[in-house]
Amino acid sequence: MIVRFTSAAVLVIALAGVHSRDVGAQTLDLRRYRTVDLTHALNAKTLYWPTSPTAFKLDTLSFGPTPGGWFYAANAFSAPEHGGTHLDAPIHFGEGHLSVDRIPLDRLIAPAVVIDVTAKARTDADYRLTSNDVAAFERRHGRIAAGTIVLLRTGWSMRWPDRKAYLGDDTPNDASKLHFPSFGVEAARLLIQERRVGAIGADVASIDYGPSTDFMVHRIAAAADVPGIENLTNLNLLPATGAFVFALPMKIEGGSGGPVRVVALVPRQGTR
Ligand SMILES: [Zn+2]
Repeated sequence: MIVRFTSAAVLVIALAGVHSRDVGAQTLDLRRYRTVDLTHALNAKTLYWPTSPTAFKLDTLSFGPTPGGWFYAANAFSAPEHGGTHLDAPIHFGEGHLSVDRIPLDRLIAPAVVIDVTAKARTDADYRLTSNDVAAFERRHGRIAAGTIVLLRTGWSMRWPDRKAYLGDDTPNDASKLHFPSFGVEAARLLIQERRVGAIGADVASIDYGPSTDFMVHRIAAAADVPGIENLTNLNLLPATGAFVFALPMKIEGGSGGPVRVVALVPRQGTR
């Protein structure tokens, strides 16, 4: 990937490499886009998996005037890798696969599509995206190109951070009664193995649905070195196609994942 600044407001990005045949060279004029934050803030209410021994913690080291007369603030934070809006590195479910610091950046900076299953998830909390849903999306919007970041919109981010509403259960230390929608196994195979998408993400706690006990979607993604992005928000503000997503996780050496700030560039109306 080549990034070149041509003026204060214009960023030209030429995507090259393995996906160039499909994604093509693109020019981004930032004045033509609005930015959308797809990230939940990290705080004391940030949700972690029910079995997580710890959660996000922020300790104040300094806050206030110094003896020298100026103001100074600094904190120390700690958190599990997996919780809040975060990225799963392939090594999370794939021994020998990429850790979070080694994921190629062109998997994490790419055009995005949003597949909307909010209507189906509203009547079935355990709804899983099917290959038919993907086919229906492609009939309307065209074939999903290799390297695309595929985002699944279920509407579940509206429930954040209510643990019971979001995860389907709030029994401490028990992950056996969870209910929320996500990707289905066949749809994941289609997207990852056939379409060769760059990453998959969802506005729920996992790229596998709540009742999953075998985490097949995680395993399929890991085997193909495809990262997963979990606990996204604001997917309702993105078009089905046309957005550009930046999903850059904390660069934890050897990490199995980590907090990620996910931002989308959405074409301003009338500029396309
Ligand atoms: Zn995770």
